[in-house]
Amino acid sequence: MSKIGFVGLGIMGGPMAGHLVKAGHEVTVYDLNPESVDRLTTLGATGGGDIAETVRDKDIVITMLPQDEHVEAVFTEVLEHAASGTLYIDFSTITPRTAEWTHTEGAKKGLRVLDAPVSGGEPGAIEGVLSIMVGGSEADFDAAKPIFEAVGKSFTLVGPNGAGQVVKAANQLVVGGTYALVAEAILLMENLGANAVAGLDALAGGLAGSTILERKRKSMLERNFKPGFRIDLHHKDMGIILAAARQAELPIPFGGLVAQHIAAARAMGHGSLDHSALLLVAEALAGKRAD
Ligand code: NAD
Repeated sequence: MSKIGFVGLGIMGGPMAGHLVKAGHEVTVYDLNPESVDRLTTLGATGGGDIAETVRDKDIVITMLPQDEHVEAVFTEVLEHAASGTLYIDFSTITPRTAEWTHTEGAKKGLRVLDAPVSGGEPGAIEGVLSIMVGGSEADFDAAKPIFEAVGKSFTLVGPNGAGQVVKAANQLVVGGTYALVAEAILLMENLGANAVAGLDALAGGLAGSTILERKRKSMLERNFKPGFRIDLHHKDMGIILAAARQAELPIPFGGLVAQHIAAARAMGHGSLDHSALLLVAEALAGKRAD
């Protein structure tokens, strides 16, 4: 069992830290929101007071924060206060460039660093069945396995530091693009006299089938956009994808279009809806609105 410092107890980090407590680790937690800390201390974690106290003298330090700027701010304190040899795991979704920065700066202080963004959403975090994409060395990946086993159902080493974030960006690119195309397919069927319910059933059983069609076709047809994963977060992820493509000097024209559709959803006031609300953008572009 390890001594763990965990910073960032939001929708995802809260349940993840809870699983680590349940697995028997000694977990010290910190969040800007004291209520999130209280929830975890009720489960048996120790409240850290501040970041320095949370990360000092730990075997493992974990962050689960919204964006690059939060990881940069917290990791700067980790660099200052964590002991040499500490394993640092960042589960946040951020740019590959910032993930590489944590590795380079961490190495100077003797920290071992992994980027480990997750997929599976809030239900996956609550049930402890996240899918984890890991960038870093094999030795550090092996050392982190007890942590991954407590919060996830699958975890894969996908390359060196930063590669976990690259794979997560690729994941979000495919998810966003799939939603945009399923939205257009729905409008096409609905506006040309086909039975869209039966039509999407047929699509789901053929080459066009996907997890999105499996899980979301019913709610999309019903125009139920309760999140799930919010448009605001996917907008952030599209920024990461475009920055990564620029870093690689790669054009990703379809990705650019998907980013604009997601930006439009946000501009239309749908930022807190599920990302399947891209259907509302397709409808607005077509001058149509479902009743
Ligand atoms: P969230 O906003 O619910 O939680 C983030 C937490 O970090 C908040 O509790 C906030 O108070 C805390 N925080 C921010 N700055 C801090 C600081 N300086 N010190 C201490 N605490 C600080 O976000 P979330 O939904 O848990 O997402 C976290 C990350 O996981 C994001 O990068 C997101 O893209 C990614 N992600 C989210 C989902 C999802 O479905 N929500 C799914 C997969 C990946």
